[in-house]
Order: sequence, then structure tokens, then C-alpha cells
Amino acid sequence: MAKPDLLPEIAIPYTVIRSRRKTMALVLHPDNQLEVRCGLKMPLADIQRFIQEKEAWIKRKMTENSRLIPVQIPLGADQIAALRHQTRQKAMDVIQRFPRLAPAQLIIRRQKRRWGSCSKSGVISINLCAGLLPDDLLEYIVVHELCHLIHFDHSPRFHRQLEQLLPGAQAKRRALQRYLLA
Ligand SMILES: [Zn+2]
Repeated sequence: MAKPDLLPEIAIPYTVIRSRRKTMALVLHPDNQLEVRCGLKMPLADIQRFIQEKEAWIKRKMTENSRLIPVQIPLGADQIAALRHQTRQKAMDVIQRFPRLAPAQLIIRRQKRRWGSCSKSGVISINLCAGLLPDDLLEYIVVHELCHLIHFDHSPRFHRQLEQLLPGAQAKRRALQRYLLA
């Protein structure tokens, strides 16, 4: 008895974005939305086969994504003002522990992708939302930027210095990667 043909089972929902491109690519967004980018005439069967081939990768990435912790800025103006005050206070507390490393200025501001930055002139900016993180991660962000007052790069000597100023800095850097600015 002939077995019925099995339909390719695609358990993972996805959207297809067609354009004038020759290759096929998968994009998995942080919210686990899967997107297939392909050429205008790519047959659906080829797309499904492509997804099946990449299934292990997709599932692995989805698991990683679900471990991410979104950090969301509060909506109201009052809450934002309170958060700004809190983040500044916490950042100042860290800075005061390193009297030899004085930034020219400390700015607390909204940044979409960065937790902090340091300018050549020594102005340190800390993301407003850093005040929502566990204190040891905010500490890491501030000390990382302070360390740029010594080494304005991410060279091995920068990382050695950072580890000296803040033992366990590398582990904190990895822990910080779980938090996603939303
Ligand atoms: Zn840096």
C-alpha cells in the first residue's frame, strides 16, 4: 500500500519578504518573528525546504531570544523624571568610588542601542534605562565608561584595566547582554 505523501511540516510561522535578490536569508527578530527574505519568484517549496534545513539554528536562536529580558522605558513624564534622578544618583555613587577618574560631565539620556558612551573630551553618557538594571550591571556600565578615560578603545589593555577596577567585569558584560533595550 502506497504511503500518502507527507506535506512538509513547517511548525514555525514566518513571513516572506520578496525583493530583487538572488540569495535567500532568514532573519529572526528579538520577538521571535521569523522572516524569510528571497527573490521575487522563489517557489514556496524551496522556501519551506530552506526553513527546514535551518530548523536547528532557528530553534536555538529562539531559545536564546526567550532568555532576553526586555528593559522598557516608563511612559509617564513623572516616572521618566524619577528614573532619570535614580539613574544619575546610582551612577554618581559609582563614580565617587573612583576619585582619580573624574568625567568632564555626566549625562543621563535615552539611547536606543547603547548602555553608555564616553566622548574624547571625557563626557560620559549613561542610558536613562540603566537605572532599571540590577545595581551590579549599572556599576559595570559606569566603570566601563570610566575606564575609557584611561584607554579610549576596547583593546586588551582596556579590558585588563577594567578587570582591575572591577573584578568580574567580563562576567558582568555577559550578564548585561541578556538585557534588551526595548
Ligand atoms: Zn566601551
